[in-house]
Amino acid sequence: FAKETGTIQILMSDTGGGHRASANALRDAFDELYPGQIEVDIVDIFTEYGPFWPINAFVPIYKIMATYPILWQITYESGATPLGLWFNELMLEIFCFEPFKECMVRPSGSTEKRADMVVSVHPLTQDIPLKILNDVDSNGKSRKEGRTTPFATVVTDLGGAHPTWFNPGVDKCFVPSDALNKAARDRGVQSEQIVQYGLPIRKGFWADRGTNTGKSTNAQNGNFFEDLFAGLTGGKSNTETPKVSSPKSSLQTKLGLKENLPTVLIVGGGDGMGGIIKQANAMGEKLAQKGAEDGNTYQMVVVCGKNEQAQNDLSSKEWGENVSVVVNGFVNNMDEWMRSSDVIVTKAGPGSIAEASICGLPCMLSSYLPGQEFGNIAFVEENGFGKYSGDPQKIADEVSTWLSSPDMLSTMQAAALEAARPSATVEIAKDLAAMLFEHKKSLTQNAETSEEKKELVSQ
Ligand code: UDP
Repeated sequence: FAKETGTIQILMSDTGGGHRASANALRDAFDELYPGQIEVDIVDIFTEYGPFWPINAFVPIYKIMATYPILWQITYESGATPLGLWFNELMLEIFCFEPFKECMVRPSGSTEKRADMVVSVHPLTQDIPLKILNDVDSNGKSRKEGRTTPFATVVTDLGGAHPTWFNPGVDKCFVPSDALNKAARDRGVQSEQIVQYGLPIRKGFWADRGTNTGKSTNAQNGNFFEDLFAGLTGGKSNTETPKVSSPKSSLQTKLGLKENLPTVLIVGGGDGMGGIIKQANAMGEKLAQKGAEDGNTYQMVVVCGKNEQAQNDLSSKEWGENVSVVVNGFVNNMDEWMRSSDVIVTKAGPGSIAEASICGLPCMLSSYLPGQEFGNIAFVEENGFGKYSGDPQKIADEVSTWLSSPDMLSTMQAAALEAARPSATVEIAKDLAAMLFEHKKSLTQNAETSEEKKELVSQ
C-alpha cells in the first residue's frame, strides 16, 4: 500500500515564543511519526499577510505590551468583552478576509496548492480562517454550504486563555488543562469537539525519564514511546528507540556545573523579561547566607534569554564562596538545564511550566503577563508543585525553605511529575494526522464514486 500523504497549514503569529514553539513541536512530531508523509507550512499570517499597520505589526506591538503589562491587560480584557469580541471579528472580516484568503489558497513555501488541512495555534486564527474556508470550500456559491477542509485548534496557553481561542465551528479543539476544557465548553465548543492531552512542547521534553528523582516520569503512560510507535507500525517501532536521558550528575558535568549541589535555575522567559537581575541577586545572596549558616554549597544557574544587560551584570558579580553561579544568555538546551536543577524560578509562561513539570521541577513563579498567564499560577499552585510571588526577596526565602526540607521538595517533585504530560505533543500529532488521512481518503472515495457515476451515465 502507498503511504498516505497530505499537507497541513499551521496558522499562528509570533506574539511571544510559544506559538511558533508549539507549531515546530507538532511539525517535528509529524516528521518523527510519519516521515516524508506530511508536509507542514507554518505561517505567521498577521506579519506576512496583514494588510497594513498595526495588523502586520502585532509582533513588535506585543513585545512592547509585554514590557508594560498594564497596556497588555487593557488590550486583553477589553478584547474579551462581548463588544471587544464583536469589534475584533468585524475588523478582521473587513481588513483581513481577502489578504488572509490569499495566504490560505496559495500558501507560502513549496506548496503551491491549498493545504489539505488547517491547524491554528494562535487565539486570533480561528474566526477569520474558518470563514475563509467556508467561502473557498463552497466554490464561491454560498458560505452557508459549508466547509470541507478539516480545521483544528491547538491551544498553546495552559491555565487561562483568551475567548477567541474557542470557536464552536472547529472540528477539534485540543486543550491542555481542565481549566481550558471548561473555558472551551463555556464558549459553546461541544465536549465531542474537545480533546485534552496537554501542551505541545519541544522534542527534548517528549520522553523524559526523570533524572531528577531517578523515577520514570512516565509511570502513568508506561513506556509511552514504545506504545505510540507500536500503534503506528503494527507492533514494531519504525524509529530508533529514543535515548534514555543521562543521569543528572553527568548532565551537570557536561554543562560545566558542579555535581550534586542543590541547584536553583532562574529563567526569565524567552526574552529574559521579568526582573531577572533582582531575582538572581536576591537568590544568590540568600543561598550564600544559607551556605554560610549550614556549611553547604549551593548552585544557581541564571538563564537570561535575550536580555544581554542582565547577562553582563550578573556575570561580573562576585557571589561568595558558598554559592556557585553560572550565568547564561539564551540557551537552546533548556531540557538539559532543567534536568540538572532541583528548583526553577520562572515567569509563568505556559511552555516553561509544562517543561518544568516534565522534569519534575518545583516552580517558583516570579511574574506573569496579565490575561492568559494569570491562570498559570492557579495551575501550578492547585497541582501542588509551586507558588507565586512577585517579590525577589520572598522568592529567595521561599526557595530556601524548599531546599531546607527534602520531604517538601520531593512531594513537590512528585506533584510536578503528576501534572506533566510528556506524551501530549505526539498524541496531538497522531490525532491531527488521523483527521488529515481520513479527509484525504474521503476525497479519493468521492472522486471514485463520481467517476463510476459518470461511467454509468455514459453507458
Ligand atoms: N527558552 C529557551 N531558552 C532560553 C529561555 C527560554 O529555549 O534561553 C524557552 C523555554 O524553554 C520555553 C520558552 O522559551 O520553551 C518560553 O515559553 P513560555 O511559554 O514559557 O513563555 P513566552 O516566552 O512564550 O511568553
